[in-house]
Amino acid sequence: MHLLRRARIPLACLPAPLNRAKEGSPPLEPWRECDVLLDGDKVASVRESGTGAGDAPATRVTDLGGVLVFPGLLEVHTHLDKCHTWDRAPGVHSDFWESLGLLHADSVLWTEEDVYRRAEFAMRTTWAHGTRALRTHIDTNFRTGVGSLAAMSRLRAEWAGRVELQVVSLFAFKDFFGGAADHIVALAAKHKVNAMGGFPQPNPDLPRQLDSIMAAARELGIGLDLHVDESDLVAAECLRATAEAVLRNQFPYPVACGHNCSLSVQSPERARETIALVKEAGIGIISLPLTNLHLQGRARGPVAPGAKFGAPRTPQWRGLTLIHEFVEAGVTVACGGDNVRDAFIGWGDFDMVEVYVESVRLAHLDTRLAFSPAVVTTGPAAIMGLPGFGLVAPGSPADLVVFEARKLYSLLARPSTPRRFVHGEEFREALLPSFDEMDAWPKA
Ligand SMILES: [Zn+2]
Repeated sequence: MHLLRRARIPLACLPAPLNRAKEGSPPLEPWRECDVLLDGDKVASVRESGTGAGDAPATRVTDLGGVLVFPGLLEVHTHLDKCHTWDRAPGVHSDFWESLGLLHADSVLWTEEDVYRRAEFAMRTTWAHGTRALRTHIDTNFRTGVGSLAAMSRLRAEWAGRVELQVVSLFAFKDFFGGAADHIVALAAKHKVNAMGGFPQPNPDLPRQLDSIMAAARELGIGLDLHVDESDLVAAECLRATAEAVLRNQFPYPVACGHNCSLSVQSPERARETIALVKEAGIGIISLPLTNLHLQGRARGPVAPGAKFGAPRTPQWRGLTLIHEFVEAGVTVACGGDNVRDAFIGWGDFDMVEVYVESVRLAHLDTRLAFSPAVVTTGPAAIMGLPGFGLVAPGSPADLVVFEARKLYSLLARPSTPRRFVHGEEFREALLPSFDEMDAWPKA
């Protein structure tokens, strides 16, 4: 057993009653200083520092001296089959549809070995940043999916106990309803995916389509995790349609919706109604602030003769969903990183501290600072169905991110603050793989 003394743990990541602010504690520093006893791969106990007279005897004691300590972080939404394709298929204009086309063309190269090589690099990276669980969407259709899902099954086994890997089968509704449904469902069953995905588009048939997808998921005994309304189109209301479908079908498995950008351009009354439906349906909301910042609000001037794209215009709209309104309605909210170094986005590093800090900045989560760590801890854990994850509580995984910073505002000021990691009863190695490794990867 290993006792860590004086760890400042965010209130959002503590069990009751430790998660309540102490009387007189500064509101801009919503953490509590605790002693954490680790036993094997689990947290055995957490108590307020200075009150641990009854601690079980620990073979080892480390005094952290009052630095910030987060639980192992969770990445709720990414794409391991697409990551690190930038060098061979860059999205020069970062136009959504151009990027989609580039990745589609690149996908002829997505053999099991190719996807494994890139995704394994990603797993080492995210582990080195302190991630404890990660959910990836995997494109599944007649063209891609067989090799990618096999690669994920290998990685899931190899990383179990370090990074829990969850897989969502991602497909276009036009493929699913264009003859690929049996193939997609069979692959999902074979690889025991955690949820069915897909990106619904507004169309008159949408309710019936959602009914069919829910029937398929019900058959598999899993939930849904959809890409929804990733645009600024007022008429895009697939989130509302999904909530209605959950209620209509009394769908019993977890449902999450990612993006939900268009909600923020709809009228406040309409948005309020949709949020109420989402709450009633128990849907978890995933915001991808960094992707939306990059891909939404991209505008261009007139296209000159002979050119494919006009000159870039300064972005006006930033594409965030109504995070605060969802939180106020009692809906589970998480923030994810989404694409990393593919045609959609040329950067990213599977670093949930980056996602946390930028989410605070972009969504003004400083206005609910005590809640804010939940977007990369307990929020994703609830959506991913991983009890005890994202918390420092008895029974939680003994995985911690130990910062050098003592205050939340120091971490927000300096995201590069050094961190160490606890895994089990030990401080573990955390070597970031070098991008130079990629130079030795086979060229397309
Ligand atoms: Zn995505």
